[in-house]
Amino acid sequence: MPNIVIIGSGPAGVSAALYAARAGVETTVLTKGPGALDRAELIQNYYGFAEPISGAELERRGIEGAKALGVQFVTTEAVGLTYMDKLTVETLAGDFPADAVILATGASRAAPHIPGLAGLEGHGVSYCATCDAFFYRGRDVAVLGSGEYALHEVQALLPVVKSVTLLTNGSPLTASFPPEVTVCPEKVNAILGEERVSGVELSGGKTVALSGVFVVLGVAGSTALARKLGAEVDGNRILVDEHMQTTLPGLYAAGDCTGGLLQVAKAVYEGALAGTEAAKALRKG
Ligand SMILES: Cc1cc2nc3c(=O)[nH]c(=O)nc-3n(C[C@H](O)[C@H](O)[C@H](O)COP(=O)(O)OP(=O)(O)OC[C@H]3O[C@@H](n4cnc5c(N)ncnc54)[C@H](O)[C@@H]3O)c2cc1C
Repeated sequence: MPNIVIIGSGPAGVSAALYAARAGVETTVLTKGPGALDRAELIQNYYGFAEPISGAELERRGIEGAKALGVQFVTTEAVGLTYMDKLTVETLAGDFPADAVILATGASRAAPHIPGLAGLEGHGVSYCATCDAFFYRGRDVAVLGSGEYALHEVQALLPVVKSVTLLTNGSPLTASFPPEVTVCPEKVNAILGEERVSGVELSGGKTVALSGVFVVLGVAGSTALARKLGAEVDGNRILVDEHMQTTLPGLYAAGDCTGGLLQVAKAVYEGALAGTEAAKALRKG
């Protein structure tokens, strides 16, 4: 039986799962836990509730309904996306190969407001080690981050680059990094460089000379995962066609990660469409 792997258990991911499972496709949802909906105290503008419902309760009911249809939920964090002979989601709980993948990880985090960062994007500031490591072979680079996602990107860089410095920007380490990585725990004051990145200035005034800075803060969002396979994104928004397919066949996106109206109704609609279209494509193929 063909299978679909969905990343995210918010309204978009769960709605996609309901439609995929009912279309007879083996459906797995990978989730690191509650998303934006969980933070909504009361939802008053979603169809079908005479009394407002808490976001957490709406989310719980959605997941319960999908489980009742046989959807499998795995609590883990997705850190990578590859294509060998099949799309494969890399997670902290291992690899999940899939005939189709639906990205539904919610709105991406904004990049940190560090002077110099935005202006040097594409000129030494990168958001994807898998995509760009090759351009930095034999060079000194830094990874801006402190968790499992940062570790995943460090591992992609180490075999290619000369050295990796980890800039935690004042956050505590939440993963165990290899000893060859130099950890700088200070806040980052600025990314330095005119035309290209030449280094960073840390709080206290220390500078580190670098050719590149990879921004890998927090958890991998849909745009970061999409970028890994070269799917087109526009800022923090994943570009999709009328079937919710990204520019990469078999890779779909739904919900807040595609931009537009950041609301439950739109996430549910896009999830329904992504689940239906992904299942339809698998039946045809
Ligand atoms: C405070 C607040 C109030 C709101 N009020 C309303 C309202 O009144 N009405 C309304 O319609 N909308 C409201 N919203 C917006 C609504 O919650 C979102 O539009 C909706 O939840 C988007 O659904 P989603 O499935 O795209 O993303 P989310 O609900 O954010 O779900 C994302 C999912 O992806 C998972 N995830 C992310 N990264 C990874 C990873 N790397 N690996 C594994 N899993 C991952 C998360 O754990 C989560 O399960 C509110 C939002 C907030 C924050």
